[in-house]
Amino acid sequence: MERMLSERLPPTPENFTLWFVYFSGRNPDLTRAIDLACRDGLATSQTLCEELYKRFFALDAEAQAIRETSDKARYALGRILEQLGNVGSETERYGNTLTGFRDELDQPLSLPELRAMIAAVAAETKEIVDRQTALQLQLQESSQQLAEMRVSLDSARREALTDGLTGIGNRKAFDLLLQEAMDESAREALPLSLMMVDIDHFKAFNDTHGHLVGDHVLKLVARMLTECIKGRDTAARYGGEEFAIILPRTSLDNALKLAEQVRTFVGARQIVNKARNANYGTVALSVGVAQFRPGEPASALVRRADEALYAAKRSGRNRVAVEA
Ligand code: GH3
Ligand code: MG
Ligand code: MG
Repeated sequence: MERMLSERLPPTPENFTLWFVYFSGRNPDLTRAIDLACRDGLATSQTLCEELYKRFFALDAEAQAIRETSDKARYALGRILEQLGNVGSETERYGNTLTGFRDELDQPLSLPELRAMIAAVAAETKEIVDRQTALQLQLQESSQQLAEMRVSLDSARREALTDGLTGIGNRKAFDLLLQEAMDESAREALPLSLMMVDIDHFKAFNDTHGHLVGDHVLKLVARMLTECIKGRDTAARYGGEEFAIILPRTSLDNALKLAEQVRTFVGARQIVNKARNANYGTVALSVGVAQFRPGEPASALVRRADEALYAAKRSGRNRVAVEA
């Protein structure tokens, strides 16, 4: 409460949750995010608090969209069923009316009687045509609503699989795509390799140049990784300053060659801020490479690539290492 007061933050339930968890130390990622924001002199503003609350406590976009959409879909489907039910009973009534008229036609009728009957059939027919037209419009509207729901689910799904900072796939996307690639590799008996990429001494880089420059480097590295790969390959942010590249139809040898290219390409790039006329030098990468062994779970493949990555770190960093 004191901290919220001193930062001039309104005492909302969201702010209270945020700062309660911060001081409890229960969520190290949250603590780190707030500490970094304070250290970099970013005001602990209400906007920042809202952003952090959304990031750490709100339902993720996918879960939220699923909940909203299933509510809407239930409503739309209920309406369609109701409309169809009405049509059923009206059509039946119309049929009964026509049957009644036909039976009357079996009797001898006077001209006025016949005229009255034809007028009545015309009126009933017009009524049912009107209702059918209304139904058609309502059904069109319902199907439009269903189409909109599908679009919003698609975009929520895309958002749920994208890393907010770098715009490439996030950990969830990585897990999904790796599993797909493993299935394909096993099915088609094609090789599959995995690269784990970690920026060297990135903590020191952040400490020297600030967290915002660090963020800029993460975006830049993500873009450069994407530039290095082909269509069926995927680069994703595995977490923090660690990236993963899935290489379907790629042998260990070829993955090693690509890893070396990635390392030299990224390591050669001068990180500059033209607006500030600043040059922050370069960042180096350590890379671990492993090849999928059909039948093993994803965790085993990731572990071998990770072990190779740590071997690269241990033997001096700024290098590529292959699984044992
Ligand atoms: P090593 O060569 O052993 O990988 O050293 P390192 O400093 O890169 O590794 P360490 O795991 O000690 O620290 C990782 C650092 O990455 C800590 C943190 O400052 C930075 N980092 C992680 N995520 C982010 C982020 O989203 N933005 C920024 N700017 N920095 C991040
Ligand atoms: Mg690192
Ligand atoms: Mg790391």
